[in-house]
Amino acid sequence: MSPTKPAPGRKSVAVVGAGAAGVLVAGRLLDLAARRRIPLDVVLIGPGEPGHGVAYGTRAPEHLLNVPAGKLGATTDDPAGFARWTGGPPGEFVAREHFGAYLAGYLRAVARHSEPGRLWRVREEVARIRRRSPGLSLESGSGVRFAAAAVLAIGAGSPGVRWAPDSLRAGGRFVADPWVPGALEDIPPAEDVLLVGTGLTMVDMALTLDRPGRVLHAVSRHGLLPRPHAAAPVPPVALPGTADDLASLRLLVRDHLGKCLRETRDWRPAVDGIRPRTAELWQRLSAADRRRFLAEDHAYWEVLRHRMPPSSAAGLARIRRAGRLTVSRGEVLAAEGGEVALTGGRVRVGAVVNCTGPDPDAKRNPLVARLVADGLAAPGPLGIGLATAPDGRLRPTNAPLWTLGAPRKGDLWETTAIPEIRRAADDLARSLVADVISVDDGEGRPA
Ligand SMILES: Cc1cc2nc3c(=O)[nH]c(=O)nc-3n(C[C@H](O)[C@H](O)[C@H](O)COP(=O)(O)OP(=O)(O)OC[C@H]3O[C@@H](n4cnc5c(N)ncnc54)[C@H](O)[C@@H]3O)c2cc1C
Repeated sequence: MSPTKPAPGRKSVAVVGAGAAGVLVAGRLLDLAARRRIPLDVVLIGPGEPGHGVAYGTRAPEHLLNVPAGKLGATTDDPAGFARWTGGPPGEFVAREHFGAYLAGYLRAVARHSEPGRLWRVREEVARIRRRSPGLSLESGSGVRFAAAAVLAIGAGSPGVRWAPDSLRAGGRFVADPWVPGALEDIPPAEDVLLVGTGLTMVDMALTLDRPGRVLHAVSRHGLLPRPHAAAPVPPVALPGTADDLASLRLLVRDHLGKCLRETRDWRPAVDGIRPRTAELWQRLSAADRRRFLAEDHAYWEVLRHRMPPSSAAGLARIRRAGRLTVSRGEVLAAEGGEVALTGGRVRVGAVVNCTGPDPDAKRNPLVARLVADGLAAPGPLGIGLATAPDGRLRPTNAPLWTLGAPRKGDLWETTAIPEIRRAADDLARSLVADVISVDDGEGRPA
């Protein structure tokens, strides 16, 4: 049973959400506690196996990581850690479930050597967080816990369904969230399927649902497919210069891609070279330019940036050639029984699978809705995620409440993949230790 109150002389940090981000923050906090001899209780609260979350909870062997194993170590100082764990080549794209198992093992290993730091695990959802003096209280099914600070590692949540007409949502053939365990089990095996969205989730779903005699129809507003990773990747090429508005940014990126293509015969190193600069470039844009980027450029950027493993691309090409997958532009207008009306025609299907990705409105998470209602959090720029200070602390108050990963997308744009989450977890753990845990508040001993 985890402590509901820190023992005398100890401090406690609650990490809400036990997916990849929660595990990486908890791991870094425990590591710092051990190195600096801090009597710290890290309470990791959230359902599910630690480290698995939405992305790495899948058991399907065809659902691959979209980052090579050699770049996915749990800590910034050991990016090769995961490749060592798999024992395979660093350039390999392995099944996502292995990464969940690796993260769970990483946390267990850090916790074994964290004294005087200690890890506590609570498999519940946090319903409400309140400000106390000092610290916070967190309410969940088993009661109220007190902590000096909390980190919201709550991810992006389930896919948005606002695009789906009522007639589709009301019928029994809509799979609103394909990542819920067992969500695909009721799809009639002999019937065709409509996949709405043509990004990486669609790629996973197409590879899982493909079978002889079935046609998968994939549609999205733009009909664009993710590009594949290169079989022999070239190192990133840094973006030269900067831009303060969207028109100049478009020119800068176009020139950068063109030059890189001429010099390396590949555009990917140019895209990878923009990645470390994305947050800075995004923050230089006005709200109007960010909106225009979302409306006009976003879909093109996404397919270049979020690429699929070469083997997934080969699998997709194979089922397209066999006539078992069509990819086109289209929006869903209405559904009547198995008949779905699209902007480009009609299809008769046994199921419609939502592959559109997360809804940017963080308030769909009940805890976040409550925090916003209580004035402890506010929506992020353009209503995407949550408003945060540069160190990840929630705005508008200075309550000891931080976040990382998807909730920071409105502020940073590039923040949801493991390399960025790992960096953020590292920075966050250091600022928590410096700002909160080491400060003597009269209850705990200063570190
Ligand atoms: C299908 C998919 C595949 C992906 N593949 C890759 C990849 O190959 N490589 C890569 O770098 N990135 C990938 N990503 C990006 C992904 O967002 C991150 O890599 C990472 O998994 C995000 O982890 P997270 O912990 O922030 O979020 P999540 O995995 O969503 O975990 C958040 C957790 O918080 C919990 N939670 C929410 N609210 C509460 C509450 N009130 N109380 C307690 N717990 C709560 C949820 O139950 C959940 O378990 C993928 C994303 C998806 C959706």
